[in-house]
Amino acid sequence: MKLIALPAFSDNYLWLWHDDQLAVVVDPGDAAPVVQALAQNGLKLTAILVTHHHADHVGGVRELHLTTGAQVYGPAGEDVPAPFTPVMHGDAFEVLGQTVQVLDVPGHTAGHVAYVLPNATPSPVLFCGDTLFSGGCGRIFEGTPAQMLASLDLLASLPASTRVCCAHEYTLSNLRFALAVEPSNTDLQTYAAHCQQLRAQGVPTLPAQLGLELQINPFLRARHPHVRHAVAQHAGLSALEQTDDVAVFAALREWKNDFK
Ligand code: ZN
Ligand code: FE
Repeated sequence: MKLIALPAFSDNYLWLWHDDQLAVVVDPGDAAPVVQALAQNGLKLTAILVTHHHADHVGGVRELHLTTGAQVYGPAGEDVPAPFTPVMHGDAFEVLGQTVQVLDVPGHTAGHVAYVLPNATPSPVLFCGDTLFSGGCGRIFEGTPAQMLASLDLLASLPASTRVCCAHEYTLSNLRFALAVEPSNTDLQTYAAHCQQLRAQGVPTLPAQLGLELQINPFLRARHPHVRHAVAQHAGLSALEQTDDVAVFAALREWKNDFK
């Protein structure tokens, strides 16, 4: 399979995968970049996958469905602006020769789902919408910190080689925060320098690699002693709160919300 990140708006990526004839797009917040990519590559759109209901993820769904007839898959618990096949945790279906597995990852929105292609070559692919970003995670709009932590734990359990296709290019600002949390993490320092080079050349920092995210992303490391200590210091957590994974994670997320 061929995997392409289509830039949209100021910092979104619409992920497209294809086999040189048919294509699948994930979270088309805008139809125009998708229509252009299909024409450029001589592709016909066969399916649309939606992770959650926010406009920057579904804004182009209706037009693309109407103009191509592509089948739409979306979270059973959310509104999608076109007729769609509702999917939920544990579902699996076949699209373009790939098995697609559905995970429920509530937190950013209440019904947010992620899609995993476990058999993709050369390594599995994860489309995680606004749940996991490189070096960060989504804001908690509709769910709770406990839900978001459980969702990230679930994604963290996927194979280390998984290619993480996040929906936004937030990497550099996320890594500035990550370095404030873990200034002496040498993997993080190296990765931040690498991503700065990529962005200076206008190249996406994504897909991220899950195994590396486990080494550098503070939101996947909220139980690490260094992260726990930094959060406790910053938020003034009590000794009891410091032993509570959800309390530490919630304080870490709040720290990031206010970080300039
Ligand atoms: Zn969103
Ligand atoms: Fe978004």
